[in-house]
Amino acid sequence: MKVLKFGGKSLDNGAGIARVQEIIIDSYQRGERPVVVVSARGGSTDALLALIDQAVRGEDFAAALERFWEHQVAGTALAFYPERQRLSQLLTGIALVRECSARLRDELVSYGELLSVQYLAHLLGRQGYDARAIDAGDFFVTDSQYGAAAVDLERSRGRCVELFGRLPEGAIPIVTGFIARDAAGLRTTLGRNGSNYSAALLANFLDASLMENYTHVDGIYTANPELVPEVRRIDELSYGDAAELAQFGAEILHTKTIEPLQAKDIPLRVLSTFCYGSGTGGTLVTSQPRRKVVRALASQSRRALIHFEGRNMLGHSGVDARIFGALRDADVSAGLVSQGSTERGTAIVVAEGDADRAVEALKTEFRQDLIEGRTTRIYAEKGLAVVAIIGLNLLEFDRPYRALVRNRVLPILLSNTVPDNTLCLVVTEQERAKALKVIHGELFERPKRVHLAIIGHGTVGGALIGQLIEQREQLREQKHIDLRIFAIADSRHLLLDAEGIGLGWEERLEECAQEGLLEEQLVDYGQSHALENMILVDNTASSYIASLYPFFASYGFDIVSSNKRSNIAPYADYLYLRQTLQLHRRSYRYETNVGAGLPLIDNLKLLHLAGEQITRIHGLFSGSLSYIFNRLGEDPSLTLRAVVEESARLGLTEPDPREDLSGEDVARKVLILVRELDVAAELGDVDWVNPVPEALGELSLEDFWQRFEELEQAIEAERAACAPDEVLRYVGDIVWDGQRGEAHLSAGLRRVRRDSPLGRVRGADSCFEIYTESYGSQPIVIQGAGAGAVVTARGVFGDVLRLAEGYES
Ligand code: ASP
Ligand code: MG
Repeated sequence: MKVLKFGGKSLDNGAGIARVQEIIIDSYQRGERPVVVVSARGGSTDALLALIDQAVRGEDFAAALERFWEHQVAGTALAFYPERQRLSQLLTGIALVRECSARLRDELVSYGELLSVQYLAHLLGRQGYDARAIDAGDFFVTDSQYGAAAVDLERSRGRCVELFGRLPEGAIPIVTGFIARDAAGLRTTLGRNGSNYSAALLANFLDASLMENYTHVDGIYTANPELVPEVRRIDELSYGDAAELAQFGAEILHTKTIEPLQAKDIPLRVLSTFCYGSGTGGTLVTSQPRRKVVRALASQSRRALIHFEGRNMLGHSGVDARIFGALRDADVSAGLVSQGSTERGTAIVVAEGDADRAVEALKTEFRQDLIEGRTTRIYAEKGLAVVAIIGLNLLEFDRPYRALVRNRVLPILLSNTVPDNTLCLVVTEQERAKALKVIHGELFERPKRVHLAIIGHGTVGGALIGQLIEQREQLREQKHIDLRIFAIADSRHLLLDAEGIGLGWEERLEECAQEGLLEEQLVDYGQSHALENMILVDNTASSYIASLYPFFASYGFDIVSSNKRSNIAPYADYLYLRQTLQLHRRSYRYETNVGAGLPLIDNLKLLHLAGEQITRIHGLFSGSLSYIFNRLGEDPSLTLRAVVEESARLGLTEPDPREDLSGEDVARKVLILVRELDVAAELGDVDWVNPVPEALGELSLEDFWQRFEELEQAIEAERAACAPDEVLRYVGDIVWDGQRGEAHLSAGLRRVRRDSPLGRVRGADSCFEIYTESYGSQPIVIQGAGAGAVVTARGVFGDVLRLAEGYES
């Protein structure tokens, strides 16, 4: 058996009511034996209460009553004759005596639910179902506290079981929520929004397997969506947390709803009628939610703080008892209570409507104390609200609290409840929405923080730091990623700052000499500051730093590097790093190792992983060399010296041009690329030709420039050998025979036709032609700026972002 409960908005005229029938019929046809509990239809209870008020004030209510009936019968042939008559009589009577007792009020509002069940039963009847409208007053027995009666569980259970036992097989009971009768048979109600409670009791009495609560929102949210637009749905929730939320005026659930369900471990699902069939599961409330900690925000409006001040509290027992005794006698329920350890005063949160009564009661109780000055002041502070953070670990309260202060919301009172981790803040009514928003932002929408340790701040590193600082704000806003540079280091300095290093870092770094081992300091700092999502960004050319990657990985760092050293290390080291990364679930990205910022390595990896046989990679792997030979090819009058000087000026080549001209850099890239294909090659396997004559290789830089002509002559000889339609290019080449497992790796000067793809390359562009089995003789060509600090820094930035996007917030 399953209890289906529908709220007022679902039952209103329009889309809801059709869905309600669909839901009931589907459940019935699945053999779930639904027992349906309904509220009054959209706004009916409020409309009835308004009619009573009008009658009490002696106003003409005829037109409003007519609208009420039009609303009730729309789209049906129902006449509701006896109900019409009774309601008119009651209202006329009230108008006559100008007052309405609580008992009479209950009788009047009960019509909302009484009409609702008949209406729904009628609609289902028209479709051929044996739907039975049932007045819950026939089995719910309560005391005579009209307006909020307490159910006599034992008597009600017996009657309920008996009544349902008598229903014929196949009947669909449609039961009123909210209403009942007292022992004398007079009408009572269970309190506003009480239909949920009725449904939960019924589920308990009839041992239902599930209660589904259909409302107009698809579940319980982290806060009220009307106050905080960025709310998220809570998928699962424990009975305890749900009860706590209900306590704080989550309109979805009546405070008492959870108890009867929890007692029999009956799960509750809160769903939307209007999303029926769309697959959303709403919120499931059970004894064992999958996630233990649930955080949510709730609030109570229209509260007042009763202040009780005096000197008579300290050391005197019994004052508190008198305070609460007086409140009890005045029928005021106390919410949050605060008393300082000096006992100079007590503050008690009550409903605003109870505040005057509470103050009166206390003044009466403490009349003598006031006269004699032991009690100094008793007064109410109205216009307040209570905001509750449910499921908050106090350790996390620093951020929301700081954010509140920053946003100028100063709580009047703070109080935490111990067993269920709820923290309550009393704020003014005007600040309520803002407080909710600020706290929600800090607890649920915090951008994910990514902590970067940047080693090396030369041309690439420096450009990267600049780009990171410049983009930080925008990334935080648009991507909800907060990229924080927590460390900048070079070989002698180390600047650490967990809050994120910004502009002016050069001066700060200068003042921070490195003490001790860089790697240990970084790891210690990360641990002691509990930094999440750490990335080591290596922009050095240092083999030493590269050799530390496994160490960093084992301490939780991911790695992004423009440094090629680790990828050209002996293959055993190359593999060891990858095993360490895998063991610690870390990533290593180095897109800029080849072709600067060009999307080469990622694409190559993807092709390879997707099983594509890559047969050849051929092209201009060095942007710097590309520039030099392009210029030579373009303008026959240019000398090599002039071109090399020019490219050094442009920052395209290293200070020592031999590093580029030797072709060693191309050989390294050949190695890096072929290793991406899982080929266990070493640098020595690359057959690479160095155009710089051997005699020049060992010279000091100065001497090298002295004897530059010797290099020039060597290159000139090659240039002269070119046909008119040919140009010189320094070409890297990987030929891979996967079948035989043979790789031919080479790098050297080649003459290529001017109108070939490599001949047409301009500027400092790199060009990679990737030949694969499926693409045949047409290569995939990746071409573009292959050198320069700015594009390389962008590439490193891209790697950082790719990692950052993969992190959990
Ligand atoms: N109709 C009642 C009310 O509006 C009970 C309910 O809807 O749960 O308070
Ligand atoms: Mg690249």
